[in-house]
Amino acid sequence: MALIVKKFGGSSVCDAESIQRVAWIIAETYSEGNNVVVVLSAPGNTTDELIEKAMEINPHPSKREMDVLLSTGEQMSVALMAMALEKLGLPAVSLTGWQIGMNTDSEYGKARIKGVSAERLKAELDRRRIVLVAGFQGVNKFDDITTIGRGGSDTTAIAIAAELGADLCQIYTDVEGIYTADPRYVAEAKKLDEITYDEMIELASLGAQVLHNRSVEMAKRYRVKMEVLSSLVRKPGTKVKEVTNVEHIKVSSVAKDTDIARIAVVEVRDEPGVAFKMFRVLANEKINVDIILQSINRNNTNDISFTVAKNDMKRAVEILEENRDEIGFAKLEVTDDIAKVSVVGAGMMSAPGVAALTFEALYDAKINIGMISTSEIKISVLVDSGDADRAVTAIHNKFF
Ligand code: ADP
Ligand code: ASP
Ligand code: MG
Repeated sequence: MALIVKKFGGSSVCDAESIQRVAWIIAETYSEGNNVVVVLSAPGNTTDELIEKAMEINPHPSKREMDVLLSTGEQMSVALMAMALEKLGLPAVSLTGWQIGMNTDSEYGKARIKGVSAERLKAELDRRRIVLVAGFQGVNKFDDITTIGRGGSDTTAIAIAAELGADLCQIYTDVEGIYTADPRYVAEAKKLDEITYDEMIELASLGAQVLHNRSVEMAKRYRVKMEVLSSLVRKPGTKVKEVTNVEHIKVSSVAKDTDIARIAVVEVRDEPGVAFKMFRVLANEKINVDIILQSINRNNTNDISFTVAKNDMKRAVEILEENRDEIGFAKLEVTDDIAKVSVVGAGMMSAPGVAALTFEALYDAKINIGMISTSEIKISVLVDSGDADRAVTAIHNKFF
């Protein structure tokens, strides 16, 4: 007998037919004698619809109330799934984040999981019940409901798998696994049999929304065996693990992130401490800065450009303007009409030429590169947002 955690995303529980299909998948694993914990997302577009509803009432709602609202979607899913399993004659119980002691900090909307108190989960499993847990939500020290960030149900599932020492955590979604690019946009994309935690962390952080990046970080830290597969077709998916057996592959996947903006700080003085002052004021506001580029002008001045998430753009500009005298710059130039396209692969550490091939692909497609950033296992380029899809396809088809 094994303990298996299964997570199903919104599209897998979007209507009665999907819920019944998922109930059969759960029933099969349970009937083989396994203990099963199931984490569910809100049905279909429910979370987006709830956000829209809130905006109609108040465009600036408090984050606390927003979390009370957004957590309701997942609660709907677990109750409906429990009913579907009851109908199949199986013992099931639905539980909210609060009921399983999913403790988080108090950053409403993007809370971090501090721990899961597993007693209730274990007690229910001991009674041989299938436990259905509402994903994405937790509770803080004030006993208030929190949510852990869009796409966070993946992280709920991994946190539970880690706490219970589960044998496997299966993330079911609407594609058959992790692909060499988003299969919705790149027709030639191929499914990978396996991918390393490190590659997947990069990919998830670089815009491939197939997994919540914190879920993969947590899976790596607690050595959770993790698999991504389809809830629609019965096929093996993609295993996410420490080391893969496909080292001859230089590149695993290409990703696109359109949720970024670029700020250029023009004509800063060329002297020590300027970058420090600039990035200190941004850090104090908890604004995360990504790619940074310094270009040298004449007359002892530099331009420093960097990227931030789109919804941090306005605040970043305000905070720089407020500190203009201290930092010392001529003006700010801002655009959010850009995208970051990235190539990820653990194999590029030992295989030269990945950068050259990437740039050749972009040259062939006549796409101009705005900024470049690299790490051991990734190369990212900034391009105009209108070129992003072409850039992904061009780079993808160069490598695969
Ligand atoms: P869920 O609702 O199940 O959590 P998501 O929409 O969060 O599903 O994630 C699945 C989607 O991720 C797929 O439909 C696909 O379009 C997208 N995706 C982006 N990049 C990739 C990739 N490299 N491999 C697979 N899917 C990807
Ligand atoms: N329902 C939440 C969202 O849409 C969480 C999730 O699906 O993982 O972001
Ligand atoms: Mg998701």
